[in-house]
Amino acid sequence: MKYVRPNIAAMSGYVPGEQPRGGKFIKLNTNENPYPASSKVAVAIQETLNGGLAKYPDSMATAFRMRAAELFGVEPDWILCGNGSDDILTISIRTFAGPGDVIRFPYPTYILYRTLAQIQGAETDEVRFNDDWSLGDQFTAPVQRLKMAFLANPNSPSGTLVSPDEVLQVANDLPCPLLVDEAYGDFAESNCVELVRQCEKIMVSRTLSKSYGLAGLRFGFIIAQPPLIQQMAKVKDSYNCDALSIAGATAAISDQNWLAENRRQIVASRGRFENELRAIGFHVQPSQANFVWCTFPGRPMKPIYEALKRDKILVRYMAYDDWEEGIRISVGSDAQIDACLLTLRDIME
Ligand SMILES: *Cc1c(COP(=O)(O)O)cnc(C)c1O
Repeated sequence: MKYVRPNIAAMSGYVPGEQPRGGKFIKLNTNENPYPASSKVAVAIQETLNGGLAKYPDSMATAFRMRAAELFGVEPDWILCGNGSDDILTISIRTFAGPGDVIRFPYPTYILYRTLAQIQGAETDEVRFNDDWSLGDQFTAPVQRLKMAFLANPNSPSGTLVSPDEVLQVANDLPCPLLVDEAYGDFAESNCVELVRQCEKIMVSRTLSKSYGLAGLRFGFIIAQPPLIQQMAKVKDSYNCDALSIAGATAAISDQNWLAENRRQIVASRGRFENELRAIGFHVQPSQANFVWCTFPGRPMKPIYEALKRDKILVRYMAYDDWEEGIRISVGSDAQIDACLLTLRDIME
């Protein structure tokens, strides 16, 4: 396509997980929360709607930033909001890396980092995880023009966690900002928010899509030291969060009781799911997220994905180069998990 920038023509584009419309699928493929969000969310959105939408929203989502700042023990100017955390990832990459610069992340991980780098015309330096999903030594190796690093923590698809101590060490060794993508941070036993104060290079992104059950609302945010936030604020669309999502997101994070109960339920279901999958014979990585990564040495995984799909259960089949293929299954409700296990026992007999 001759009108298009060469890097865009050359890239294939990110393919999100299937979102079937209708067909009554049990959706365990994109790590959505199986439970309805806090009821306070709909109330707040309705109130905003009643007030009308004629005016532009608050471009900095101040109401949300104030609540989030309180929650995380920082000032509001340490927080920037986005239209989902994918928007935050886009904003950060546009702020720190240009054409020809290098962006580093581990492999395998969230594939969108590669897509965003390609759009930016930047190079990627993908550092293979060790086989046990610990970070490879090369993650802090110096390279020319290294301008940014990403670390999904917990990682997808593995659900594994790099400890905050190691993250701090890695950040100190890197010459560039490190964005710790904590999309699943609420399900993990530790997180890196505290480190943002200790190290100006550490930025932590969060989303309401997974732990707050609001993937359809599109709201995410990043916590970083104010000088970085100020630069990123220049890059974002002026009105990147709409009035309804700001109201809903603010209500959601104000209801920490809902979050605690949801987290407790998901973590309990996750433990049971892992055990039952192991009983069937799967290798299951101990998960710190709301999904599990399953492999079955010596057995092709695609037919398992396909058999589940025939039974109207959607999971994510992942085949990465130079890595054992597997399926990533979201921790659904107990009934959804039981349906999934029933089919799996049947297939794997
Ligand atoms: C789901 C996910 C996101 C994006 O979430 P949004 O819905 O855009 O907020 C970001 N990073 C990782 C690792 C994810 O799994």
